[in-house]
Amino acid sequence: MKGIVSKSTGSWYIVIVNNNESYRCRVRGKLRIKGLKTTNPIAVGDEVLVSVENESQKLGIIEELLPRRNYIIRKAIKRASHAHIIAANIDLALLVVTEVHPKTSLGFIDRFLVTAESFRIPQALVFNKRDLLNEEHLYIEKQKIQIYKKLNVRCIETSALNRAGIGDLKNLLEGQTTLISGHSGVGKSSLINLISTDIDQKTNEISDFANKGVHTTTNAEMFRLNDHSFIIDTPGIKELGLIDMKRQEISDYFPEMREISHGCKFHNCLHLNEPGCTVKIALEEGQIAESRYHNYVSMLEGRDNRR
Ligand code: GDP
Ligand code: ZN
Repeated sequence: MKGIVSKSTGSWYIVIVNNNESYRCRVRGKLRIKGLKTTNPIAVGDEVLVSVENESQKLGIIEELLPRRNYIIRKAIKRASHAHIIAANIDLALLVVTEVHPKTSLGFIDRFLVTAESFRIPQALVFNKRDLLNEEHLYIEKQKIQIYKKLNVRCIETSALNRAGIGDLKNLLEGQTTLISGHSGVGKSSLINLISTDIDQKTNEISDFANKGVHTTTNAEMFRLNDHSFIIDTPGIKELGLIDMKRQEISDYFPEMREISHGCKFHNCLHLNEPGCTVKIALEEGQIAESRYHNYVSMLEGRDNRR
């Protein structure tokens, strides 16, 4: 049977087969995984072939890992050669952000988008808690949406409180496997609860303040919305920003710089102060948003001591 891994503890995997039956599976001992050296051979979102070990107890064995369309990894911090796969086979990387309570920084947003772009996964932003915004906040949010829409990032505004934009969110997720992320407290669980009756996520009713410093699990988990729509929740997504990237390649993951940079005088231009830099010209002409360029430079600097 073909199935999708919805949860992994490292030794046990929950696999959804026939679209809605779950089996608790272990991996066939001789299963060999080619390619990528990873700390976890099988990840949430992986498509696998399973055989039934015990039907009444819903126990199975993973016999084969099917090829991945894509995956998101983070490097194990201590052992650079081993990567940890956060999730696989993702159609859309969705970040839930808020203008207030808490405020999501543009730096965090851009880091997320750049990382998703580096794995060639389309991106979307959900601006939640719209009900809490005053005139000024609304104006700022609109400006941000303009920046990101130009970059082909799908943007929607929602309120889990008064259910505004929930239809748009459903449309966005329909037929896709969506990796959902965002700072704690932005309303991920509240939104997920609104779009699915199957899923009952615990919302953080305790204040963020009380939660600070509490260690949350970093394992991703997949939820089924309907036969062909899934959500992958990634509580430890902050680590998404830790992937290794060569300084030279960062601008490739800023879609507005990627094309333009071919015109730079120097082939290895980092778009800082080099002469004949077409990226800097585009910035001065307003074709590249200042915030995006600023975040590009901080990503570049943050990676000085890496490859
Ligand atoms: P998560 O940590 O991202 O899963 O966030 P939760 O869904 O647990 O929400 C955190 C808090 O924000 C809870 O108290 C929610 O009731 C509240 N919340 C979520 N969405 C909204 C919203 O759209 N508007 C308002 N005013 N509060 C919200
Ligand atoms: Zn340049």
